[in-house]
Amino acid sequence: MKREDLHIVNVRKEVVVTSQLLSKKALMAGSWGNVSARIDKDSYAVTPSGHSYDTLTPDDIVIVNSDGIKMTGNSYPSTETKLHVAIYKKFPEAGAVIHTHSIFACTLAVLRKDLPPIIEDTAQVVGGSVDCAAYAMPGTEELAQNVLQALGKKRAAFMANHGVVCWGRDMKEAYMTAELVEKAAEIYCTAASLGGAKELSKKDVETMHKFYVEHYFKRQRGEE
Ligand SMILES: [Zn+2]
Repeated sequence: MKREDLHIVNVRKEVVVTSQLLSKKALMAGSWGNVSARIDKDSYAVTPSGHSYDTLTPDDIVIVNSDGIKMTGNSYPSTETKLHVAIYKKFPEAGAVIHTHSIFACTLAVLRKDLPPIIEDTAQVVGGSVDCAAYAMPGTEELAQNVLQALGKKRAAFMANHGVVCWGRDMKEAYMTAELVEKAAEIYCTAASLGGAKELSKKDVETMHKFYVEHYFKRQRGEE
């Protein structure tokens, strides 16, 4: 097998493994939510539309180009492919994108409420608050644009009345971000019943995020 082909097989496998892990951890239910990974500058591997994650195989993962048009795969690409591609185009360093309908993130998304930086781990990875994008119908270019606006320079955003999307420099980081945002949303909702969480300062969040981006990420991978 050629080196490029092996790379594509590995990326497709990683998308399958991550989707099934998200499903197992109850961050995704049924066939809702979607996962993608960058193959190279202009192509991405995306979960198929309407396919249960339990029976997903690497061949089901659809390869799309930078216009979101299917190039290879047995199925239709995810209905949120436009959103995934828009994130890769805005953030050249993005290596993976995860969109879920996890419970506490959705709780804030239905309230159309931003999640302030209240807990250090999430704040340092996301880079600040998780803001809620203005409502748009699923799968539309309008939704993709609203999400880009809510993201700003950060790594996660809520989608009003819908869910949450996160990106990472690799799949491991995108997965960790999805888990951290769900945890922070749960803490925020729980703290609301006990008088409300106190926010971290903007300056402290900036310092922690800078350290995370420049050093901690490398230390997690044994590169520093
Ligand atoms: Zn969705």
